[in-house]
Parts: sequence; C-alpha cells; structure tokens
Amino acid sequence: MRTTVGIIGAGPAGLLLARLLHNAGIDSVVLESRDRAYVERRQRAGILEQGTVDVLREAGAGERMDREGLRHDGIELRFDRRRHRVDFPALTGGRSVMVYAQTEVCKDLIALRIEEGGPLLFETEALAVEGADTDRPRVRFRREGVEDVLECDYVVGCDGFWGVARSAVPDGRTFERTYPFSWLGILADVAPSHDELVYARHDRGFALLSMRSPSVSRLYLQVPADTDADDWSDERIWDELERRFETDDDWTLRRGPVTQKSVTPMRSYVHEPMRHGRLFLAGDAAHIVPPTGAKGLNLAVGDVVTFARALAHRTATGSDDLLDAYSATCLRRVWQAERFSYDMTTLLHTAPDATPFEDRLQLARLDRIASSRAAETDLAEAYTGFPIG
Ligand SMILES: Cc1cc2nc3c(=O)[nH]c(=O)nc-3n(C[C@H](O)[C@H](O)[C@H](O)COP(=O)(O)OP(=O)(O)OC[C@H]3O[C@@H](n4cnc5c(N)ncnc54)[C@H](O)[C@@H]3O)c2cc1C
Repeated sequence: MRTTVGIIGAGPAGLLLARLLHNAGIDSVVLESRDRAYVERRQRAGILEQGTVDVLREAGAGERMDREGLRHDGIELRFDRRRHRVDFPALTGGRSVMVYAQTEVCKDLIALRIEEGGPLLFETEALAVEGADTDRPRVRFRREGVEDVLECDYVVGCDGFWGVARSAVPDGRTFERTYPFSWLGILADVAPSHDELVYARHDRGFALLSMRSPSVSRLYLQVPADTDADDWSDERIWDELERRFETDDDWTLRRGPVTQKSVTPMRSYVHEPMRHGRLFLAGDAAHIVPPTGAKGLNLAVGDVVTFARALAHRTATGSDDLLDAYSATCLRRVWQAERFSYDMTTLLHTAPDATPFEDRLQLARLDRIASSRAAETDLAEAYTGFPIG
C-alpha cells in the first residue's frame, strides 16, 4: 500500500486531518486499531472552542454540530456557596464555545470520510513507524492477523497517549505531572440542572456539571487517584454532587438514571519535539492536559490544522518552511493550554495535603476572578481558545 500521508489513529485528530487533506486534494490512509462502534461511542470531550467550531464549519463538517450543538456564552464558578458567572462574549469581543460531544464529532467525520471514499481501515493496528528520517517513511501494521506495510511520503501519529508513533521520535524530551486525584464521571438521562457548565470548588473536592444534550447530563466528581468506580453507588454519587454544588440560594440538582460511570486519571504531559524527519505527532500522542480546562480535543484540532496548512503550502510552493516550523508552532499553543489547564486544576481541586493557608489562597484566587475584570478576561480568553498557528 502507498499513500501521501499515513495517519495512525481515527480519533478526532486523525479523522479531521484526513478531511482537511482531502479538501486540499492530498490523499491519505487512516489506520485505526479499534472498530467503528468503539470509536463512535468512546465518551470523552464535549467542549469545542470557537476556533474548533470555525475549523469544523470550514471543513464542511459542521452541519449537524450547528443544528444540534449548544452554544454556551459563559460558565459558572461556584465557591464558598457563592455563584459567579463568567460572560465570554462580553469579555472576549463576542467569542463563545459549543457543547457538542466528541462522539458526535467523530461520527460526523467518519460519515464524511466514507462518503468521500477515502481509506479508513478499522481494526488495523499500527505496529511501528520505520524510516522516519528518510523520504519514504513506512507504517508496519497488522490487519486480520496479517502484517503489511503502508509506504508514505509523511506519517502523522494521531494515535493518542498509548499509541506507537511517539516511540519513533528519538532523543525527545518529556515534561510530566500526575495529580493525586482523578475524576469520577457519569452520564445521566436527566435534563442538565443548569444551562451552562458549573465548576465548583468545595472543601470536599471539585465537581463539574456539564451536559451532552438538553436531556443528557455529564457530571464529574474529584475522587482519590486509586478510586474504583464500582465503589460508588448512584445514590452516593448524587449525594456527593449535591453537597459540592450547594449554594445559599434555592438552586437544586436534578437526579436521573446513571447510564455510564468511569474514572479518569489527571495528567499533564508534553513530548518535545513533535516531529522527527517525516513523522509528525498530533493530539494526545504528543501532549495530555487534565480535562479541567476542556483543552485536549481543541489542541488536537490545532495540531492537525497546522500540519495540513504546512503540507498544502509545500505542495503549492515546494517550500518546507512551515513543515519545519510545525513542532515549534504547535508547542507554543500547547504550553499555553498546559498552563491554563494546570491553573484551572489547582484553582478548583482540593489537594490531599493542602494546608489551611493554601485553601484560603485558592478562595482568594477565585474571589479575584469574581471581582476583577482583568482576571476574569484572562480566564475567558483562555477558555474560549488560543489562536491556531
Ligand atoms: C473523561 C475525559 C474528558 C475529556 N474532556 C475534554 C473536554 O471537555 N474538552 C477537550 O477538548 N478535551 C477533553 N478530553 C480530552 C480529549 O478527549 C482528547 O484530548 C482527544 O480525544 C484527543 O484526540 P486524539 O485524536 O489526539 O486522540 P484519541 O482520541 O486518543 O484517538 C487516538 C486514536 O488512535 C487509536 N490508536 C491507538 N493506538 C493505535 C495503533 N497502534 N494503531 C492504530 N490506531 C491506534 C485509538 O484507538 C484512538 O482511536 C477529555 C478526555 C477524557 C478522557
């Protein structure tokens, strides 16, 4: 098999890249180790930055998102039984975010890929990237028990944190932080109790109220890092959520049947550089953020837009300039998202070894956001997204 761009992984990064390249007249092959149903059902991100929304629209992948997605003009911070709304458009010159689940983004992009007739091979596992420093890199893969090779001009590793592509970048440097807590996330068949996301800081730990649609709620609780989701009955989860969202007014939490429950570890991770020869890393293959800032999927989108633009530029002009700048261009935005995600995480979570002094500082940081337009604008700008490229 031969193609211009071999893409490993059909998560949001790989699928969007295939679409962007198709639109630019560049052929690609996508290899995905899981089956289609798994990729379409994997519950993860749900917040699309303004820039991501614009990219999906321009790529011709925004039709259902515009019909079914929920535009959000703000979030609520909840602390000390108080509520403070951050108004995005007022603080950022009109920007907002869109609530549209990653599952739906992937479904839309898979449907487009199939419609345009581009190769998308499910249940095909990449085993290794070879010859990245030559002008004929290869992906060795296994499909239906048989090993084969995909020859490419370029390989893009969009295979997530546990993929194989990153190991083919020698002499890389990694920067990492793990947090001493996780998120217990649930999906529940009940209308969201608030029309915008609620980020709650509580002495018992962080809680987040989010949603997938007008009838499906997504909620998270900070739990100890070694938590087993089965130790948490539905009733225990709802009781704990209720406590952490408590306010001095008459706000109430709606309860409903829990349809999914899982624990997500919290990690910050960056691998530098994001390129070796003709192998490029994109999305979670190169970096991870804790989900508090809702940045992971949006970073993946930024990376593949940067790569697609760089390759189109090379095709049009013969110049490698933008491809050579790929890693530095992406990393600048990645580190801004790492900083913001870290800030949001330490602002809102209760560290197991936090001192009373640190607890007070946390409240003072929240109070500062609630009382200073400059501090609030900083949060709103970062939440709605950093520019791509
Ligand atoms: C609970 C949770 C909540 C989150 N919330 C948000 C949020 O609100 N907003 C946000 O922006 N981000 C969020 N994220 C992060 C976001 O989901 C990820 O950043 C995003 O999925 C990254 O996309 P990706 O395509 O780079 O990687 P992935 O989605 O991990 O896709 C990688 C793909 O590669 C495939 N693969 C792996 N190895 C191989 C191989 N050897 N061969 C072939 N295929 C392979 C995998 O099966 C997978 O399909 C959240 C994540 C979690 C876990």
